[in-house]
Amino acid sequence: MSVGNQPRRRGFRIQILIGLAIAGFALVRYFASFDVNPVTGERQFVGMSTSQELTLGQQSAPEMAREMGGLVADNDPRAALVRQVGRQLVENSKAKESPWKFQFHLLADPETINAFALPGGQIFITLGLFSRLENEAQLAGVLGHEIGHVIHRHSAEHMAKGQLGQMLSTAAGVAASDENSSGQSAQMAAMVVNQMLQLKYSRGDESESDGYGLVAMVDSGYDPSQMLGVMRILAEASQGNRQPEFLASHPHPESRQQQIEAWLKKTYPNGVPKNLTDGSSLR
Ligand SMILES: [Zn+2]
Repeated sequence: MSVGNQPRRRGFRIQILIGLAIAGFALVRYFASFDVNPVTGERQFVGMSTSQELTLGQQSAPEMAREMGGLVADNDPRAALVRQVGRQLVENSKAKESPWKFQFHLLADPETINAFALPGGQIFITLGLFSRLENEAQLAGVLGHEIGHVIHRHSAEHMAKGQLGQMLSTAAGVAASDENSSGQSAQMAAMVVNQMLQLKYSRGDESESDGYGLVAMVDSGYDPSQMLGVMRILAEASQGNRQPEFLASHPHPESRQQQIEAWLKKTYPNGVPKNLTDGSSLR
């Protein structure tokens, strides 16, 4: 009996040691992972390199599509417009010089009213939100705001906080079982998407992203006051049975509206210049 028990006990102890080693590694990573943002110069706690951020976003993008009703086909004019406006915003803003690679996707989910930015530059808007927008400038407002989240590395920051917990639970998993690690990247993608779907940006995050988005709109020739149109559309959608998901992940709509109004007043005291337009109509 003791012959059979001993190897199993030793195996268990090794698993605990591996678990502790991973936990220790997670702690070291946590405290060693302050990084200077290559675009904003801000010192941030992001817990990953820009190339890790890119990989994570690219690997998680298909999972995000799966969770949200799939992608609208590439050759659909609406998906093409999302790509075109997104690309234009990147080309005409600081995002162009950033290490992140931006890709813009239209999610087929017609009910959910939301937009997402995965780390590294994968940006999504749902058909539910897209189909409520009145013009191209409003689309630029939504996409520009999401580009702002990427540039400011907000989701990476949030994940860095959560990563400690994740890695500790991975360590616990290793200690608890000796299952092999196949399917780990699929698990990682699922965790990333799960975090993104539950993510609640802070008031500060929202101000930074709006600030970025408004400037990007102007630099691409769009009327930035159309961002107020986006706020109105979200408020109107709130009158229905349920709150738009966008307001759960991107909170504080009232203070956002006031800040956007203040920005417009300060930037254009004599009104928005005539050369900034709404772009094509989406209705
Ligand atoms: Zn936001």
